Amino acid sequence: MSHPVVVRFAPSPTGPLHIGGVRTCLYNYLFARQHGGKLLFRIEDTDSQRFVPGAEEYILESFKWLGIQFDEGVSFGGDHGPYRQSERRDIYKKYVQVLLDAGKAYYAFDNKAELEAARQATPNFQYDASTRGQMRNSLSLGLDKAKELIAAGEPYVVRFLIEPGEDVIVNDLIRGEVKINSTILDDKVLYKSADELPTYHLANIVDDHLMEVTHVIRGEEWLPSSPLHVLLYRAFGWEAPQFAHLPLLLAPEGNGKLSKRDGDKYGFPVFPLEWTIRDKETGEATGTYSGYREEGYLPEAVINFLALLGWNPGNDQDIMTMDEMIKLFDLSHCSKNGAHFDIKRLLWFNHHYLQECDEKILCEALKQQVVAHGADPKSDAYVETVVKLMKERINLPKELWEQCNFFFAAPTEYAEKSMKKWWKAEAPQYVSELCDFMEAQDDWNGETLEPKVMEWIAGKGYKTGAVMNAFRCTLVGEARGPQIFAITDLLGKEESLRRARVAVERLG
Ligand code: GLU
Repeated sequence: MSHPVVVRFAPSPTGPLHIGGVRTCLYNYLFARQHGGKLLFRIEDTDSQRFVPGAEEYILESFKWLGIQFDEGVSFGGDHGPYRQSERRDIYKKYVQVLLDAGKAYYAFDNKAELEAARQATPNFQYDASTRGQMRNSLSLGLDKAKELIAAGEPYVVRFLIEPGEDVIVNDLIRGEVKINSTILDDKVLYKSADELPTYHLANIVDDHLMEVTHVIRGEEWLPSSPLHVLLYRAFGWEAPQFAHLPLLLAPEGNGKLSKRDGDKYGFPVFPLEWTIRDKETGEATGTYSGYREEGYLPEAVINFLALLGWNPGNDQDIMTMDEMIKLFDLSHCSKNGAHFDIKRLLWFNHHYLQECDEKILCEALKQQVVAHGADPKSDAYVETVVKLMKERINLPKELWEQCNFFFAAPTEYAEKSMKKWWKAEAPQYVSELCDFMEAQDDWNGETLEPKVMEWIAGKGYKTGAVMNAFRCTLVGEARGPQIFAITDLLGKEESLRRARVAVERLG
């Protein structure tokens, strides 16, 4: 019988989590939920050189923000812990010994200089069946000699003994059968005595086995490691999990991977949350990488966008809740080809979810922007009305001020382009007369005012566009904004007429 589905997200804490890693975790999450399985969170921190403080916390906070929950792992607990690889040294030592005892791994003593000399002497040198006999290891020196060296304190590594000439097949749920010949593989280092730690490969497969992982869903960059992993499973006599290697996330243009630098280049974040860059030695902050959260993207938008970067539900549905994605997700509908990162599409999703989100978020953002610009937000109700009226025009909350500033501050200048088009010789007269007419009306409510104004314009034989656009320019500073009577409603009689008359006086 098949085992219950167990998947894992296993980042190395080497810095902020790249958006590609977020997608990998999302796909694992969707897969786990769909199958009623479990998602584990493991920290792969065996490379102490690359450890970055704060990275683990950052990753956890990112998923909390995004609404992706883990069932087991670092900070969540569970029956398969510890889930931090640096806390599992003894476990790995034991399994390295198992391979050594079975003759499937061996000790090697070659130092840097010796390895370099071998590389110099043999073009395309690879530590394998064809060369290991000439190197310093327990196969060439004999086990007794090797043990002597170890007892005398000589540093060593343990290498995996790869038999050449064997076909290795990786069954990939996205790519199908990936076949390579073991001859192209080298005797990978599995363990280093110097830091008493295993390398990524050994720790990764030992943990996947002990944690009962059934499916390894990870980025394409790990595909080249998979044949080796298949051989390791075989060497231990363990069943290998199912593999699925996700397509690369590509830069907006060209065939390159989406990198940190692309974010700067194209002006969008490539990290979920803002990250403070620190000097490795002093810990001093030297800069920041921007994050989706701080830039005003909604988690729902980021998730929906990422879900469709490399997968599609088989129809053209693009807006999906997490629950819908869980139902529809299918690894066999993942593409083999890299997916181009398209920020416009993410903005489109963000626009959609902003229309549905709790308006308080937008009201708070607008209020802050108004105050930051030295203007008066008037009242919560006023801000809320502006938000209701204007939110369909924005993709990000930070665009609110730009779209709504005239509701809080009278124009101080008038846009040249709009003036050219609408502030013709008759404009001052139109606006003055319109002001007089409007002033005489008792009911300022747009709904009653609009038909009266239209009737007045028609009676005068004026052109509606010419009058109303000139008037709009006096209120807004340019020919943009929502329906004009929505603006006069909000500004009120006194302020609307004041702005119009000031403009007539200034612009003549
Ligand atoms: N620690 C690896 C990473 O940082 C895990 C790769 C895997 O999922 O096997 O992505």
